[in-house]
Amino acid sequence: MPKVEEWDTFPFDGEMRTRALRPPTEKEVARQGEGGLDCRACAAPDSAFIWTTQRWRLRTLGQPSGMPVVLLLDPRAHYAEPGDLPDEMAAELGTLLARIERAVRLIDGIGRVHVCRWGDGSEHLHWWFMARPARFPQLIGSFAAIWDDILPPMPEAVWRDNLAQVIRELSSA
Ligand SMILES: [Zn+2]
Repeated sequence: MPKVEEWDTFPFDGEMRTRALRPPTEKEVARQGEGGLDCRACAAPDSAFIWTTQRWRLRTLGQPSGMPVVLLLDPRAHYAEPGDLPDEMAAELGTLLARIERAVRLIDGIGRVHVCRWGDGSEHLHWWFMARPARFPQLIGSFAAIWDDILPPMPEAVWRDNLAQVIRELSSA
């Protein structure tokens, strides 16, 4: 096992070994909604989002997960990469990332809001806001994304309260 096993944030324990890395594929694996075809994000109605603006829409994963709040910000139109955004939208995105991060951070007991972009699953551009609880040193850093799948889901009522607070904050700004 590599040194990562000794990190306090490593979520696993016990006998383990790394998987062998398979050789590269012929080409990149296609992402969901490539070229905007059958794109789930494009097809989703505004009612599937918790907050929308003229060009952006904010959604949840649809159910509570291990972290107190996990949100995704999509452009309304189909763009694949951050660098594909027209300058005006890229500038607006900067403002929105700050505004949403702030709204989530205001929730009681949040230690940090990770703002991330991976984009290997769905092509439609989406930014992650992953709030981790305060005072759990094991939950810091990039493993928070793994802990989110490991920890028991937040109680539904707490999760809904958190979302309501984010929506209130965004709507009052
Ligand atoms: Zn799309």
